[in-house]
Parts: sequence; structure tokens; C-alpha cells
Amino acid sequence: MSRLSESSQKTVTVIGAGVAGMSAACALAEAGFRVQLVERRGYLGGRASSYLHPGVNEVIDNCQHVLFGCCTNLLGFYRRIGVSDRIHWTSEMTMIEPGGRRSRLGPFGLGPLRLPAPLHSAPSFLNAKAFTLADKLALARAMRAMMAPEAMVDSRESLGAWLRRHKQTEGAINRFWRLVIASALNAEIDEIAVPYAAKVIRELFLNSAEAGSMGMSTVPLSELYANVTPFIEQRGGSVLLNTHVEGAAWNEDSAQWLICTRAGELVSDFVILALPFEATQKLLPRLSAEEGAEKLARQIERHEHWPICSVHLWFDREITDLEDAVLLDREIHWMYNQSRLQTGRGGHYIELVVSATRSFAALPREAAIELALRELAEFFPRVKEAKLEKAALVKEMYATFGVPPGIDSARPGPASSWPQLFLAGDWTATGWPSTMESAARSGHLAAEALGLSAENPLRCFEQDLKPQGFMRFFR
Ligand SMILES: Cc1cc2nc3c(=O)[nH]c(=O)nc-3n(C[C@H](O)[C@H](O)[C@H](O)COP(=O)(O)OP(=O)(O)OC[C@H]3O[C@@H](n4cnc5c(N)ncnc54)[C@H](O)[C@@H]3O)c2cc1C
Repeated sequence: MSRLSESSQKTVTVIGAGVAGMSAACALAEAGFRVQLVERRGYLGGRASSYLHPGVNEVIDNCQHVLFGCCTNLLGFYRRIGVSDRIHWTSEMTMIEPGGRRSRLGPFGLGPLRLPAPLHSAPSFLNAKAFTLADKLALARAMRAMMAPEAMVDSRESLGAWLRRHKQTEGAINRFWRLVIASALNAEIDEIAVPYAAKVIRELFLNSAEAGSMGMSTVPLSELYANVTPFIEQRGGSVLLNTHVEGAAWNEDSAQWLICTRAGELVSDFVILALPFEATQKLLPRLSAEEGAEKLARQIERHEHWPICSVHLWFDREITDLEDAVLLDREIHWMYNQSRLQTGRGGHYIELVVSATRSFAALPREAAIELALRELAEFFPRVKEAKLEKAALVKEMYATFGVPPGIDSARPGPASSWPQLFLAGDWTATGWPSTMESAARSGHLAAEALGLSAENPLRCFEQDLKPQGFMRFFR
């Protein structure tokens, strides 16, 4: 990759400092561009961030964020800013039934001696008490079908219809497809396109043990990004927080953008809009009029949000020795034992996550916390003896965008119809659902597209992990 000399250094303004904006900004700063990263909030991270919750006086993530070994671009971004060692990895997923019976999903083997993919997880599925024999046969049939190339081709069929066509049992649907897959995609099964579910299945359970291993930050999310500002500043750029961008105008004569913010004006050769779809939509009428803007506006109108809620509980004692678990058959879906996961976290802090449930999101605070506590006690009886010291409920109503059949035609690529302006954000065309990996991919794709147009090509996009074992024949 070539670095630009000081005199020819082009300026890039990246608007939005979520994972998409930070990934693009750091890659471009490394390639020699002078980067201005502009964020309306007072901190970095966007939807994947942490903050001091005034109600409990604790720094909490706006929700537990998990990543997987297959998140190559997110991991590339973490490597660039030097925080890869702050991720705790596990290859096991513990499923618990009300009453406490546990099943463990994950690779099976002794040390490096593992069954070849996709069989590496098969023994754990066969042993799982959470599924009946009929459930297991149904799951094996469906996973085999998801290995076929047709499962990766978009059609009008939803995951729900596909599961019914592949004769999935009630247990397989409720305990696996709804809970593990649909909650990873944060939507109801009838609102999910089959290729997105197939992607999750392939990466988490079939392609390789490495791709499916689960990672969680050992520090609050915003601490992960502490190196971003120095990284950009050391390369001649700047990070502007509390700076809300209100519009931008292209100046044909100087071939530059004039960006209007609530804190003043900025001039820039290039712009990357690294915003969620609704913030992009708000900005469209405030950009210079351009052919193609109408098409983008129509694409954005097709996107829809799904909520995620998290309940944060502090007890006077430990209620489980597990680090994390999937909770079956109840409203709450995932348990994260933050006192064990995050280093230096005192106390006994448990976070519960409820995905894709509009009814839970509609509950008032007291009712939501009461329901969560009642259900938690069904999985971990020690909750009944423990004293709840404090609690917080975080409702993210605009958490993620849905991936219904046909959504790919509403996801634009990095190039836009404006000169020297590029698009990023998890909702743009990455082939991934609404995740930090999709955001990091979009940032790297936009940075590469910008580099090409500035005649300073850079390589920052990280290729996918190669499927292992027999999965090499099912690409
Ligand atoms: C509750 C919850 C749980 C989640 N769980 C997971 C998970 O477990 N794993 C996972 O991979 N993903 C998860 N996600 C999804 C993940 O957080 C997002 O996909 C990802 O963070 C999106 O990044 P982004 O940069 O595209 O957008 P954002 O994070 O939304 O960043 C956009 C930034 O632009 C800023 N901005 C907006 N308008 C302006 C403006 N006019 N001027 C300046 N700045 C502006 C915003 O303040 C924001 O910081 C979760 C999301 C939520 C909300």
C-alpha cells in the first residue's frame, strides 16, 4: 500500500463513528489520507458502545455484543487498533432448559484431533438433551439442505416457509431456529431470507470450529476503541466528537465538499457517510441534488428496524458459574455473566438479552425486570436466595435492520451517485446481516473504493476464512 506524500495528502471526512466509520477511518489514515472522523455523540462506537448508566452508576454496554471467528473484517479492525487480545473466546454454547438441564453445543474432539468439518459439531448435537431424536433428525436434514448452493440464492421464500417445507419439528423450530438463528439475526423466522440463515448456520456450525468460536469483549465496548483517536491523530487526522453533520454541498470549482455541522463548516476532498439507514435518509435532502438520490431514498424506505432489549442485574452473590448461556422456552434468550467475562468487574453482574421481541420491548420497566427475574430463577435457583442490589433495562428500539427475502436489492454498494462520496454502514451491501462484521466490512469496502478513486489504492478488506474439511466442497 502506498502512503501519500504530505503535499498530495487528500482529506477524507468520515461521518459517523460507529464500527463502520471507525474501520474506514483507521484504514484510510494508515494509507496516508488525512482523516476527519466526525461523530454527533460524545463518544465512539455508535450502536456497539458503552456508557455510564446514571440509574445504576455503572458503565454498561448498550447490549452484550458477540462476534465470531468468521468476523474477519471486525478482527482486522481490532488488529489495526491493537485490541485483539481484549477478546475472550469460547467454542461452547450452553443451552439450559427451565429446571436447569444443560446441553452443550460445540466442536467435539481431543485437542487438535477433531472430526473434520462439518462433522465437528455433530456429536454435541447428538448428545444434546434439549432435542428429541425427531428434532435431531430434522436439524440434520435442514443443515444438510443449507449446505446446498441453492440455499444461498435469494428467493421470495422466508426462513419460516423453508423450515416448514423441510419438515422441522416444533422442538427444532422453537429451541434452535427461533432461538439460536432468528435471535442471531434479530427477527421473526417469517421475516428472514433463507440465505442469511444459511450463512449463519454455515459459519457458526459447519464451516470450521474456528469460524464458529464466539468472542466477547473483556472490557466495556467503548474502551475497545480508546486507541482509535490516537491512531488517527498520529497520522495527521482528527476526531471530532459532539459534531452533528446537517448537510453537505459539492463545490464543482474546487472539487471539494463543504460539510455543514452544528459546530461549524469542514472542507474535504472525499466523504464517507457511515451512518445507519435512517440517518442517511435524513441527510439525503441536505446533500447537493444529484441524479440517483431518488433511487437511494427508495432503497432506504424498504428497510425496517427490530428492537433488542437487555436487562442488567446486580446481585449480592453469584447465581451461576457459567459465563454465558442460551435460555430455552422463555422470553429471555441469552445470559451473560459480566462479572466473569469482563476483567476488573467487581460484584455479581448478570446481563440478559431479549432479541426480536416487540412484546417484551413494549413492557414498562418494572414489569420487564420482574419477568426477567422470575424467568432467570427457573434456570438458576440461586436467584431465589440472592438479593437484587440494582437493575437497569435498556431498550434499543432501532437496534438492527431486518433481512427479509428480497432485501439485497435495497442494500447499496460503497459507490454513490455523488462525486467523491461513498456509503458505508452495516445496512449497505455486504452480504452480512446487521452486525459489527457487516459494519466493518462496509467500512473497508468504502475505504478501498475511495482509495481507487483517489488513485491511491489500498487493501484493507479481509477475505473470509476458508471452509475446512469436507466443507471445502460445499462453497
Ligand atoms: C442492542 C444491540 C445488540 C446488538 N448485538 C450485536 C451482537 O451481539 N453482535 C453484532 O455483531 N452486532 C450486534 N448489534 C449490531 C451492531 O451494533 C451494529 O450492526 C453495528 O454496530 C452498526 O455499526 P455502524 O457503524 O454501521 O452504525 P452505528 O453504530 O449506528 O454508527 C453510526 C454512527 O453515526 C452517528 N451519527 C448519526 N447521525 C449523524 C450525523 N448526522 N452526524 C454525525 N454523526 C452521526 C451515530 O451517532 C453513530 O455513532 C447489536 C446492536 C444493538 C443495538
